[in-house]
Amino acid sequence: MAKVYVDEDLCIGCGLCVDTCPDVFELGDDGKAKAKDNAADNIDCAKDAADTCPTEAIIVEE
Ligand code: SF4
Repeated sequence: MAKVYVDEDLCIGCGLCVDTCPDVFELGDDGKAKAKDNAADNIDCAKDAADTCPTEAIIVEE
């Protein structure tokens, strides 16, 4: 099962991943992005978001 998660130490809360892939990412109350539980169902989109994240905070493990 693929896993997607965000390194909160690296995330700057720019929201780009939420714009790219709203089915997978959301911004938390702390202003940092989080991967939703169903992230593995949208792995291609999650990879696109990981590629565009300015701080490389998104980790996709397959
Ligand atoms: Fe954080 Fe990267 Fe998403 Fe921007 S694109 S909110 S830095 S995880």
